[in-house]
Amino acid sequence: MTCARLLVLSALVLAIGCDASPLMTAGDGGGVALMDGGPPPDTDGSVPPGTDAGDVPGTDAGPPAPPGSIAMGAACNCDSECEGTSANPGLCLQGVCMTRAAGDACVTVGAADGCPTGSRCWGLMGTDGAFCWPDCATSSCAGACDSDGSCVPSDATSCDASCSAVCTGTEPPPPTGGCPPNSHPSEDGMSCYCDDGFVVSADMTACVRECTMDSECGSGLVCVDNSCRTPPCTSTSCPSGTMCAASGDCVVDIGMPPTGTPPSACRVGSMGIPDWRCTSDCGTLVSFDPRRASGYWDYPLNGETESNQYRSYIRRDVMMLVRYAAAMVACQAGSWPGNGGDLALGDMSEADGSIPGTSIGSPGHPAGTHVNGHDMDIGYFQVGTANNQLRPICPHTSGGADQYHCTGDPVNLDPWRTALFMGHMHASPNLRVIGMDGRVGPMIESALTQLCADGWVSGTACSRPSLAFEVTDMGRGWFAFHHHHLHISVSGS
Ligand SMILES: [Zn+2]
Repeated sequence: MTCARLLVLSALVLAIGCDASPLMTAGDGGGVALMDGGPPPDTDGSVPPGTDAGDVPGTDAGPPAPPGSIAMGAACNCDSECEGTSANPGLCLQGVCMTRAAGDACVTVGAADGCPTGSRCWGLMGTDGAFCWPDCATSSCAGACDSDGSCVPSDATSCDASCSAVCTGTEPPPPTGGCPPNSHPSEDGMSCYCDDGFVVSADMTACVRECTMDSECGSGLVCVDNSCRTPPCTSTSCPSGTMCAASGDCVVDIGMPPTGTPPSACRVGSMGIPDWRCTSDCGTLVSFDPRRASGYWDYPLNGETESNQYRSYIRRDVMMLVRYAAAMVACQAGSWPGNGGDLALGDMSEADGSIPGTSIGSPGHPAGTHVNGHDMDIGYFQVGTANNQLRPICPHTSGGADQYHCTGDPVNLDPWRTALFMGHMHASPNLRVIGMDGRVGPMIESALTQLCADGWVSGTACSRPSLAFEVTDMGRGWFAFHHHHLHISVSGS
């Protein structure tokens, strides 16, 4: 699945397909069906500013407005009416002016890269290409503003399919529709999930703002972006050993973040960066190919030889995602301190999907993991070592006995490149989790927080990173055996 906007026009449900907080849950199993086949609930009928058809050029039948005369966010009928450039051609998407993103795909879904100022890039489910959705904060929106603050089409916008490439009229909602306002259907259409910034109401029937003012939050919490949060830190409020990051969080002090600004050329389709999006045979197990390319090396280990890397079979979509994230690090972080060089890939699955080592009678991982190409062990990016191959990056003994986890600081960890790699792995909405040692985790969180604040990474990696570690052994499987590698797990059918 791509991470794209899903428009269900008639139901006025506008959502992002990859952001999911369950509206109703049954244990940890995810959302359950909210609507029992009944009609979608009425929306409140409010109409955003600028939708009064008589006031806006181009909203009624009649001659198109002059080429390029309508600003993004405003109502339109035809593509030609919308402002654009050769890099970002104007587009009338379901009756709202916006532009196409530079290139065929978003550099980073939900980020401004490749889009004119005041807009951010998403795809649209069911439609090829990538689009720059206007920010409601800086444009007058003829449609509706969604939970990301983007201007999206609504029932109040319409278009002319004869001169507008993305204009499907007012078709009935797809069967996955029927979710209440501020929510969106799950991929299988069986559940509704609250949009970002909304939580399930007390009676479990609607998605509502968690708060609108501080007094609605518990003691010590403040209302930020309609969510109850701890107050942002100040330069003097963080405990010893931590620092106040631009995000407002106290983070482990790991020294100065990388200087400079993210190179704009580091994007899919340039600088050797391959697209992470898989379109066919995505669940097929393949031998990691090529073995060595931009930013990574799948070197022989754990008994593999150059001619028989039997532990290096992986789903095609996971392979593509790792190649993308490694190439992004090689491009963005070329001049950062640390070893640099290739990311080193470790155990995946065997060719038949079994745990690596099964064919020699010695499965190297617990049952249920590293099967069917969903998982991969990867070396940390390092400092002060010969390369980034899998090895302990911290002291890990106590009284002369190996503890199989870091017992001291990860002195050989390059937290910045490692966090950057993990951040770019979040490009895929199918990323399930990235696990690491309990002493590595806080450093990665600190680095990722700062990289997000400086624009090196964006999207889910920043808003809801899927990182896992155990500072003490909670029995979740991350505490031991991750002092020499991180573990990625990606879902997918
Ligand atoms: Zn693993």
